[in-house]
Amino acid sequence: MQVIKNIKQMSSLSDKWRQEGKKIAFVPTMGYFHNGHLSLMRKGRLLGDVLVVSIFINPIQFGPKEDFKEYPRNFERDSALAQKEKVDVVFVPDEREMYPPGYQTFVEVTKLTQHLCGLSRPGHFKGVATVVAKLFNIVKPHFALFGLKDYQQYLVIKKMVEDLNFDVQIIGCPTVRESDGLAMSSRNEYLLPEQRGAALSLYKSLKMAQDLFETGEHNAKKIKAEIINFIKTFPYTQIDYVSICDPETLEEIDEIKDKALMALAVRVGKARLIDNLILEVRK
Ligand code: AMP
Repeated sequence: MQVIKNIKQMSSLSDKWRQEGKKIAFVPTMGYFHNGHLSLMRKGRLLGDVLVVSIFINPIQFGPKEDFKEYPRNFERDSALAQKEKVDVVFVPDEREMYPPGYQTFVEVTKLTQHLCGLSRPGHFKGVATVVAKLFNIVKPHFALFGLKDYQQYLVIKKMVEDLNFDVQIIGCPTVRESDGLAMSSRNEYLLPEQRGAALSLYKSLKMAQDLFETGEHNAKKIKAEIINFIKTFPYTQIDYVSICDPETLEEIDEIKDKALMALAVRVGKARLIDNLILEVRK
């Protein structure tokens, strides 16, 4: 496994692979790997002849009061895990090379970002779309894998690829959970032992919404009200949003017909956690 820090070196290697007719699979990450990341790598390994994983904690997707500085990092452990997954290249670009002095170009997906996390984290998706566009131009993948835990991010990237004619296939991968249902996240690291139970309020809420929906409650406002009351029974929690929305446009819906996305963001102590589920009429 190669570790590449230099943008030109990564780009030239991808050019060489493409000339040889190799299919490149790519998993962009911010590191501190858990099984969610590894599941993306496994899928990428199956799809591509070569597999690139990037680790880059992208400063421009963090707000001024967010956790950029504290974001967990452990490159030694990450590279050992990536090697186990038979990753060909770990690409770890330098921040100054990604955003040199005078940098001034950004990518903005305008509508999908006006919902959910886009409202509570202004500028976040502009940072995400920009770094992913840059990484696509450097790594030149045929396939790029994203987790559906970050459902809005997946939609934003798909839209960017469609609108800007990137020649890459975006693949959404299911959320990997702990045995009790908590969605794996690098930010779970922030949870104190006494907050771990409260972190489960997100998954329990999704299950509760699914039960309500399956037993005939299709009124989104009523489901949301129940969920909000439920989360408030957990200590350490502060709700950012609870949304039932169209899974393609992310616009809020009143009455669930065939399908809806239930998405929520809750602060549990220092950790801002997100999770989601598709509510669907089973045929
Ligand atoms: P991150 O390092 O948190 O930026 O995540 C890198 C990629 O891993 C993104 O595409 C995430 O959606 C994905 N990911 C994060 N957590 C999970 C999870 N629990 N299950 C599946 N994919 C995940």
